[in-house]
Amino acid sequence: MAPARPASQARAAPTAPAGLGLDSAAVRQAMVQRLASLPGIESVVLAALAEVPRHAFVDPALANQAYQDTSLPIGLGQTISKPSVVARMLSLLLQGRAEPPAKALEIGTGCGYQAALLARLCGTVVSVERLKGLHDKARTLLRPLALRNLHLVLADGTQGYPSYAPYDVIVAAAAGPEVPAAWLAQLAPGGTLVAPVQVAVGKHVLRLVKRTRQGWQQTDLEEVRFVPLKFGVI
Ligand code: SAH
Repeated sequence: MAPARPASQARAAPTAPAGLGLDSAAVRQAMVQRLASLPGIESVVLAALAEVPRHAFVDPALANQAYQDTSLPIGLGQTISKPSVVARMLSLLLQGRAEPPAKALEIGTGCGYQAALLARLCGTVVSVERLKGLHDKARTLLRPLALRNLHLVLADGTQGYPSYAPYDVIVAAAAGPEVPAAWLAQLAPGGTLVAPVQVAVGKHVLRLVKRTRQGWQQTDLEEVRFVPLKFGVI
């Protein structure tokens, strides 16, 4: 975990990938090729991963690790998930869809990296963050990408974000003891939700929820590791 870092130290804009040593697009493409060999990764997700500069979302001192399959600190004790987990979660959301999801909700904007990917994969994206320092940092880091379909909200995401509901896809980047009822209620029929859930002390799994006209079908998948879902805005 990174030491807390005041938002004022957030970079004004993505800078050159210090320490990458190679053209960042080539290093990123190599990461995408490694991810393509994993089972169940959707090609549209790989295309989005090839476009979004992950190095621009992490501290310059960590940019040389940006295209390794590792989670990295993003300040205020939070982390950006490792690319294979991001690719897996986004693929689960998109699997079996003929069309891109019209509306997406992300809980936990963090540095904004996954939000940038979602904005390439979905019609409209609402991304909610509870820490003002990270909400502001994501806004700054995302500005150069000019993603007009992405809305960043400073709010407690345990309540979802009712004003834009229902959502075709919902994805969470923080693990709670259950999937909050508000998220289930705000998922559209035919929609898909993916969230890490704490099922035992120190044990998180990815939970996949599909909403049908009859109700919600939940499946627990592989073990993962996420930061905790917390209440309130600070
Ligand atoms: N998708 C992010 C990952 C960030 S880590 C990225 O690409 O960087 C998870 C984030 O969830 C943290 O920033 C944390 O502050 C946030 N979070 C935790 N509980 C939350 C809540 N109740 N509402 C909104 N965000 C929350």
